[in-house]
Amino acid sequence: MAQNGGAPTYTLSEGCPVADPNTAQRVGSGPVKGLILLQDTQLIETLAHFSRERIPERTVHASAVGAWGEFQVTHDVSHLTSAKFLNGIGKKSKVLLRVSTVGPERGYPETVRDVRGWGMKIFTEEGNQDFVFNSIPVFFVRDPIKFPSVNRSHKRNPASNLPDSTMFWDFHNNNQEGIHALMQLFSNRGIPASIRHLNAYSGHTYKLTTDTGFVYIKIHFKTDQGIKNLSQAEANKLAGQNPSYHTADMRNAIENGDYPSWTMYFQVMKPEQAENYRWNIFDMTKVWPHANFPLQPVGKLTLNRNPENYFQDIEQAAFSPSTMVPGIAPTADPMFQARMFAYPDAARYRLGVNYQHLPCNAPVSEVYTPYQRDGKFRYKTNYGGDPNYVGASLKQVNFKGKVGANGFSPGGHEEWVGTVAGYASDVTNEDFVQAREMWKVLGRSNEQGDFVQNLVGHLGSALPQVQQETIKMFSKVDEGLGADIKKALSSNSYSLAIDSLPPFVNATSPVQTLRTSQRCT
Ligand code: NDP
Repeated sequence: MAQNGGAPTYTLSEGCPVADPNTAQRVGSGPVKGLILLQDTQLIETLAHFSRERIPERTVHASAVGAWGEFQVTHDVSHLTSAKFLNGIGKKSKVLLRVSTVGPERGYPETVRDVRGWGMKIFTEEGNQDFVFNSIPVFFVRDPIKFPSVNRSHKRNPASNLPDSTMFWDFHNNNQEGIHALMQLFSNRGIPASIRHLNAYSGHTYKLTTDTGFVYIKIHFKTDQGIKNLSQAEANKLAGQNPSYHTADMRNAIENGDYPSWTMYFQVMKPEQAENYRWNIFDMTKVWPHANFPLQPVGKLTLNRNPENYFQDIEQAAFSPSTMVPGIAPTADPMFQARMFAYPDAARYRLGVNYQHLPCNAPVSEVYTPYQRDGKFRYKTNYGGDPNYVGASLKQVNFKGKVGANGFSPGGHEEWVGTVAGYASDVTNEDFVQAREMWKVLGRSNEQGDFVQNLVGHLGSALPQVQQETIKMFSKVDEGLGADIKKALSSNSYSLAIDSLPPFVNATSPVQTLRTSQRCT
């Protein structure tokens, strides 16, 4: 950088010096100057760059808090996985963590009720390991064809551009496999007090592999700060007073040396246990009850450094369930498989095909991918004259021979045999069993009343006929819960069934999301 008595000297982005960065060239001779000139590269460049400052916003997970940190192994898991970053008690790896709301756009208040996405990149000697988890242990759908739909229903009405509880509940009434996730979202954990006070869960079943075989696991990060939530009223107040409340909390904590940490646990299942287990382990609407598969501690994540620059470190960060090191492997969970495509695809669209070269994403291990070349923004090496096709035998200038392969053992895997067919899962009574367990958990912590209030605060602005269906759905979890929701809706002046109301398609006017005063007929 050009220096000027210790201070940086402003230049154009091509490096050429400018006389004064505060001026624009104009024609004129007196105190009142005339026209601006097109030849003023400094002005043109400044304006043109400003218009291009924004990159495409993530369709989901746009608003986020991020920080750097480290992961340290605390327990021996070498019998479960060959992943080198998990082998060796005390071993440390650099980490980037980005925790986001899902539905809202960037700048939306951070204390909204929503799932939090947990994008974590561990920079290991064997390449990056990404964990793209959630703050609840289950998800709303298990069929990837529904993935865009569930997200759209949680976002804005396409006509009114308003968040729309009718749309939200209409989707869930007709896709009731999401009932377990809804039990989590409308529990008090749906609004964490801060990012430091929430857990994260893999949701998906993963595989851990060694040279000799594999096990299935679910991964949990449990906050060492303890779970802490905001009431809906506190969250609403903060949304107005300090929409960036969670960002400020994290920055301040790290700035003050109060480093948040999480303990990482595995639940471990042997393949033969999976064969006859009550729950389909590839269904991400289900947990593995702790009593069946207890949590085993693995290591500790600590956040200890704020981003140097938000755009550089956090906005440009890209995480994918497909980014895995040897010793960790995907499973047949269809949502897992679909996300392995969708996340890098989103990054290619948002950041360009060479997004892995950006400093926040670049592995600390050596990278050699000469069959991936060129493309927009080739920031780093383009491999000179190395072979750009597989199986090259000719020795090129500056190239020492054939491209080698690591040849690591991928471990054992399942065998799948069957006929190709279109498939969509059915909702059955089994989908309500774990939701019912969650209702009991809330009973033990005396939070059932909060749950009902949290729920009707949202459901109350949906159309009455949609509310009726939602009440029926929650009645399948617990008859009393359904009755409580019905009672709370009517006593809070929220709307209830009016059979003569227009059908949903006619109800997309902005007014419907504001309508809270219709009474039950
Ligand atoms: P337990 O009955 O042994 O424990 C319930 C779990 O629920 C706790 O470990 C805790 O998860 C979570 N929990 C506790 N209090 C609350 C609360 N007030 N609000 C929200 N979540 C709370 O668990 P089981 O494994 O037998 O599962 C029972 C039900 O608990 C499940 O059906 C599921 O709905 C829910 N649950 C289960 C989890 C699992 O992985 N097994 C994880 C989270 C919830 P944590 O320890 O992760 O904080």
